[in-house]
Amino acid sequence: MQRYFIDQVVMTKEITIKDADYHHIKNVMRMEKDDLIEIVDLKGCLYLGRIVDLNNKQVIVAIEEELKENNEFDVEVTIALGLVNRNKTEEVLRRAVELGASKFLSVKLKRSVVKHIDDKLDRKEKIVKEAAEQSKRSKLMLIEETKSLKELIEYSKDYDLKICCYEDAEKNTNSLKKLLKEKYEKILVLTGPEGGFDEAEIEVLKANDFKMVSLGKRILRAETAPLAILAIIAYESEQS
Ligand code: SAH
Repeated sequence: MQRYFIDQVVMTKEITIKDADYHHIKNVMRMEKDDLIEIVDLKGCLYLGRIVDLNNKQVIVAIEEELKENNEFDVEVTIALGLVNRNKTEEVLRRAVELGASKFLSVKLKRSVVKHIDDKLDRKEKIVKEAAEQSKRSKLMLIEETKSLKELIEYSKDYDLKICCYEDAEKNTNSLKKLLKEKYEKILVLTGPEGGFDEAEIEVLKANDFKMVSLGKRILRAETAPLAILAIIAYESEQS
């Protein structure tokens, strides 16, 4: 069933949906009166709704019942990605939502080929919303402001596990498998840009309690590494 994240709190038995979601319901999904949809409201509550009317550029939905379902990880995972171009960033955003990340941010690093991307938050939020609806997330992934390494280190202070994915095998002293055996509330994962990390950056990260981990013997692209680690975290935390 199609899911919609709406920007209102469900407080009445009937709600009105307009704009992009109206367009999606009517013209993309070609839904009709009496079709059922799932709605996640601003409070994160999930409801089953029945379409009672879709005319005049709005859909009227009757709330049938509140559904109890949680498709989120037990742990909050933030992906910090070395700054890459807009296409790659958007690709990572989509996949990170599918794979369960709670937050995303870009980090300006020395070897980032791109020095700046326009933070078109509207466009990024649209991508996140669509991916969350498709993958049936219970919550929207938050996009944080782009940070420098210094700012990231400050930001990382309230995380109880900080991981840096680093392909340089000799310097990898931590087993990801062992690290993920513990229970955490918040994990921060940093992955590098196309050019990887600079040695000095690695030293700063280590000094600030980032654990260097390997994702295997092969070198992954900047846009693949965050997805690989999210899949590993999902496997370790959700498999019984
Ligand atoms: N050092 C290379 C590759 C960078 S790959 C270069 O100079 O071109 C981009 C990022 O993906 C890396 O910074 C790292 O965070 C991550 N990554 C890629 N392969 C990895 C691996 N096998 N283990 C851990 N991290 C990896």
